[in-house]
Amino acid sequence: MLDTDFFHRWMTVSAALVDREADRLTDLDAAIGDADHGSNMRRGFAAVTKVLAEEGPGTPGAVLTLAGRQLISTVGGASGPLYGTLLRRTGKALGDAPAVSERELAGALAEGVAAVAQLGGAKAGDKTMLDALLPAVEALGTSFDAAREAADTGAVATVPMLARKGRASYLGERSVGHQDPGATSAALLITALAETAGGAA
Ligand code: ADP
Ligand code: MG
Repeated sequence: MLDTDFFHRWMTVSAALVDREADRLTDLDAAIGDADHGSNMRRGFAAVTKVLAEEGPGTPGAVLTLAGRQLISTVGGASGPLYGTLLRRTGKALGDAPAVSERELAGALAEGVAAVAQLGGAKAGDKTMLDALLPAVEALGTSFDAAREAADTGAVATVPMLARKGRASYLGERSVGHQDPGATSAALLITALAETAGGAA
């Protein structure tokens, strides 16, 4: 079973990975956006780490709900509300159980990803974070490592895509040939999940 500490660690490992990869995320966003994705994510997840340490939420659902709320209030870009919604909705779906199964997490995360799709109006192939999140959620039914693999593959698969949502869509054909920054950060969050679960990095 995955307990509150597991979810707290998922968020702190995510913050560490985002911090380490922030320059890369910003470089990717410089190519097809406005060069702020790394700083947005770094600021947001630093705030998440801080608020979790201060408030010490007592259930898996409360950890993700608080983290999501914090992202929404600290990240101004498109990614803040989208990732905030992902974590809040996933947390809400987990309810107030003190620990959840891998299968329950997979189901809750699927609800979170569906909420991101609803909020942003994007679908698979639009060159967004969903291109990493959708395959990851599907593979989570198999294992954490399969989810990480699927997210990484999904992020790389955005390179030849034409952006249809968000800032990159303003570039039209010029968005082709670059990896989507949000799909890349989404793969980091799934990598953090697999690492927390004990899989190899
Ligand atoms: P902004 O675009 O406001 O500068 P960020 O740079 O932080 O925000 O995030 C950009 C990322 O957000 C994109 O790479 C993409 O993955 C994701 N994104 C943007 N719009 C959408 C959307 N409508 N649905 C899903 N993801 C989106
Ligand atoms: Mg940006």
